[in-house]
Amino acid sequence: MGDKYSIAVLPGDGIGPEVMAEALKVLEKIEESFKIECSTTEADFGGIAIDNHGEALPDSTLDLCKNSDAVLLGSIGGPKWENLPPEQQPERAGLLPIRKELGLFANLRPAIIFPQLTAASPLKDEILKGGMDLLVVRELTGGIYFGSPKVREGDKALDTLVYTKPEIERIAHVAFKAAEQRQGKVTSIDKANVLTSMVLWREVVTELAKEYPEVEVNHMYVDNGAMQLVRNPNQFDVILCGNMFGDILSDEASMITGSLGMLPSASLGEGNFGLYEPSGGSAPDIAGKGIANPIAQILSLGMMFKHSFNRKDIYDAVFQSISGVLEAGYRTKDIYTPDCTVVGTSEMGTMITEKL
Ligand code: NAD
Repeated sequence: MGDKYSIAVLPGDGIGPEVMAEALKVLEKIEESFKIECSTTEADFGGIAIDNHGEALPDSTLDLCKNSDAVLLGSIGGPKWENLPPEQQPERAGLLPIRKELGLFANLRPAIIFPQLTAASPLKDEILKGGMDLLVVRELTGGIYFGSPKVREGDKALDTLVYTKPEIERIAHVAFKAAEQRQGKVTSIDKANVLTSMVLWREVVTELAKEYPEVEVNHMYVDNGAMQLVRNPNQFDVILCGNMFGDILSDEASMITGSLGMLPSASLGEGNFGLYEPSGGSAPDIAGKGIANPIAQILSLGMMFKHSFNRKDIYDAVFQSISGVLEAGYRTKDIYTPDCTVVGTSEMGTMITEKL
């Protein structure tokens, strides 16, 4: 056996466990084909952890993550936990703290349209011109989601948007480095015309760009960015955003690809450690029906090999297998177009595994 990796597996809620089962099938095949060894340990996170342990992020789950080389996460949340006080709900008490505790400050969300799936995009083909391939780099542990004070006093509520120069620099480095490996273009999103924190954002990104002479940088206000993304998505290569703008624009970019079920994401810290999860949520509307698309979860597994284990070859192999299955005309319901064959979650996972 060659390389060895330990992976914390947090299947989560809703469709999470269904799509995770398919990613684990693929992982087993990767181990066999690439002669590597992965030890996986499952733990509760999210709603299921509230049910079993009384909190969304139990210490035992956090410890497991801290002692692993990477974390593979499904999605969490659902109607069952929506009536809990906000501070106990799965996302507020699970997702935000896990990112903070693990120091995951950079969220990478590639939005790629497989050429076989342009018909599933809500945008016309004349806008897409046969495909789309962009990467949203979102700052994940700062900005208005974490700034304090955060106060509710009766009919008055307050959130705080704060960014410091080092926070902006470290996320901008991630974006510039990613652009060097791609088309060499960074579009930095801000709202420097009205927000002081965003004036600093623009200044810092402009200054840092000098260290990356090969990368072209431009700046866009977030409202214009949201519009440009649907007007001409192919003008973008890497989109660099703060936490809230990145949250919104990455969902917009996801939707252009046709389905949230296609899109992976990586959340990275300082070293090789990372947390990998689909961009979408737990999809309670389709949970338990065996129809969820497992591709986002499987691509998230692929990203884990690329970013945490330095095995781009394995990411490429996973990508090619998915592409091969789509080429053969198989689709889950969310990406179905006439003339294709509909398959369920498990069949899709099995076909991708067999293609590897
Ligand atoms: P969602 O992403 O779960 O679903 C939006 C739509 O996309 C639904 O129609 C759903 O069926 C579809 N969809 C998502 N993933 C799919 C897949 N793999 N295959 C096929 N279709 C898919 O968003 P929502 O409905 O707003 O949220 C549902 C729950 O998920 C909420 O509790 C929310 O808080 C939670 N959530 C969790 C995360 C996370 O864990 N990172 C992220 C977003 C939302």
